[in-house]
Amino acid sequence: MKHGLQRAHVTMKAGTVSDHQPDLDDLRRSLDEVDSGIVGLIAQRVRLIAEIASRKQSSSSGIQDADRERQVLAGVEAVATELGVSASLVRRIFRELLSDSVAQQARHLNGQAGGRLRVAFQGAAHAYSDAATRKYLAGRGAAGDLVGFSTFRQAVGALLAGDVDLAVLPIENTTAGSINEVYALLREHQLFIVGEETWKVDHCLAAVDDVPLSSLSRILSHPQGLEQCAQFLQTLPDAIPTTYFDTAGAMAAVAAAGDPTMAAIGSAEAAEANGLMVLRHGISDNEDNYTRFVVLSTSAAPVDVRIACKTSLILVTRHEEGALLRCLEILSGSGHSMTKLESRPRPGRPWEYLFFLDFEGNSADPRTAAALDELRSAAQYIKVLGSYPAKALRHSAQPGTLPESPATESPAESLEAVAADQPATIRRSRQYRLVDRAARPADTVVRVGDLLVGGDGFAVMAGPCSVESTDQITETARFVRDHGAHILRGGVFKPRTSPYSFQGLGWEGLDLLVAAGRETGLPVVTEVMAVEQVQRMAKEADILQIGARNMQNFDLLREVGKLDRPVLLKRGLSSTIEEWLAAAEYIVAQGNQQVILCERGIRTFESATRNTLDLSAVVVVRERSHLPIIVDPSHGTGLRGYVAPMAWAARAAGAHGLLIEVHPTPDEALSDADQSLSFGEFASLMRQLAAVPGPR
Ligand code: PEP
Ligand code: MN
Repeated sequence: MKHGLQRAHVTMKAGTVSDHQPDLDDLRRSLDEVDSGIVGLIAQRVRLIAEIASRKQSSSSGIQDADRERQVLAGVEAVATELGVSASLVRRIFRELLSDSVAQQARHLNGQAGGRLRVAFQGAAHAYSDAATRKYLAGRGAAGDLVGFSTFRQAVGALLAGDVDLAVLPIENTTAGSINEVYALLREHQLFIVGEETWKVDHCLAAVDDVPLSSLSRILSHPQGLEQCAQFLQTLPDAIPTTYFDTAGAMAAVAAAGDPTMAAIGSAEAAEANGLMVLRHGISDNEDNYTRFVVLSTSAAPVDVRIACKTSLILVTRHEEGALLRCLEILSGSGHSMTKLESRPRPGRPWEYLFFLDFEGNSADPRTAAALDELRSAAQYIKVLGSYPAKALRHSAQPGTLPESPATESPAESLEAVAADQPATIRRSRQYRLVDRAARPADTVVRVGDLLVGGDGFAVMAGPCSVESTDQITETARFVRDHGAHILRGGVFKPRTSPYSFQGLGWEGLDLLVAAGRETGLPVVTEVMAVEQVQRMAKEADILQIGARNMQNFDLLREVGKLDRPVLLKRGLSSTIEEWLAAAEYIVAQGNQQVILCERGIRTFESATRNTLDLSAVVVVRERSHLPIIVDPSHGTGLRGYVAPMAWAARAAGAHGLLIEVHPTPDEALSDADQSLSFGEFASLMRQLAAVPGPR
């Protein structure tokens, strides 16, 4: 920092002012000159930054250098103290300048050319979200058309519909905490975080007239606004706090009502925009009241590894002791510092939790990518919400500060190292890593409601090939439940060889299946055939089945991989075990570890049975992978007389369960009549199954 230059400049201006007795206009002119001088210097600074950015373009160093920033701040503070200017004022100004130059360099590296963006926010014009959105766009050097929506959900709806390019929503406040609804939206939809912004919330109380506070009877604000000023509101016991969809909207409502006994809590900017008088400034309980906003998009935006980033994810841990701790150790062990951990209830699963986790790191960095891979195998479900330039870094962490070893080994290499210690019978595959037994020595146990599939448990899934009618599915559900089944099966979208065969009842059938499941207390499993069906199916079905014919429908595999729902992956009609495990890897690599494999017979030269049930697959899969595997002897043999013996054999071979087709009147079944068991046959199968030792 060139102290001399700064001092000379200021002294000169002071000299001009004190030469003669200036009138007010002279003074103002001098002030204007100083101001444009400041702007001129900022412009000079911006040009220098641009030059630095292009130097950095060709180097691998990070653009945010915490030590350098500290030095700059200390330098300017020293000058300020010398000149008798408030050091904290100078610090504030320079923080803004520094953060702007980081943004400027990041733009340069990431090649963001600005442009015009359509951006949704929640609230009315002049709301805090509006201000934060403008700040974010200014930092990116982008212009925007901002659209306010009354709810978070509507703002996200506009984003999903493609009406806007981005949505900027508040995610947490330093006083009031997390904003649950925004977390819920992140969980429910395919949204990515592409940026964050912080905004200092400075609440004031405003009314139509300069009235005494004691005369107020009603105070309007967004619930967060009321919560953040709770202590101040307690000093006004006669005024009733009234929630409003937005702080700026509350200001507008007070202005429109023209009632001097009403006031609103919001920003001074919103008060002014609505022609209101500010009765009291700085009414937040906590002076350091900041809100953090996330910038959402429908697609991820990779960020240059030299830009300091945060990564956010949703994590569901396995049902094991110390599961969360193990996940956190993976992050800390690889040098990633966690900035936030928030636990939320897992919908539809009482007393189960999912975690929202932020850490400093960029998934484009191979070391972070390796840590995420490790997390995927340790967790039950992971959804990476995005890596994005960090605005608020708690630590001095910068890109390039992750330890070099051992995390720099590529995951494939480290698996090979593990493989060296494995028995020779395991041929290590390059097609999959996460589902490999080497990635996880313990069996994966998939939880379906209260039931555990995998490990020592044995789960029987039974029901008709196709759901045909209310009576058919309810009668079957009751019968199989009473005879020991744990899960109700029933196809509603049927992959039939001929287009003229019964194609299933579709969504109507799903309603019947779900109703029968509810009535009998059985979770339900049903096949999903198309990408477009996945989200809707996941809302209703407990397990989503991927049929044999879709085992290599990679788009479909990726889609179910994004869900926090168990998936039953059937083996393809003519797929090798390796191809099957690679298909499972598609699901798991997306974040969903809840995969159950199902052997259902393969196509061979043998024509005495519909398929050849490959029971050796059970032992091979259990050796090569940690995923649970069940057996479907119905499709495996195609003939009802062979189903029971093959079911017992499957259990003896170590399968974790069975998938059996059962029908009240098998010969009249609209699909797979030959292989469907009658109620009596199912009951007898189950009786004798108890005598067979289960999986070890
Ligand atoms: C089914 O389970 O009804 C089915 C169609 O199975 P697969 O995909 O194994 O043929
Ligand atoms: Mn069938």
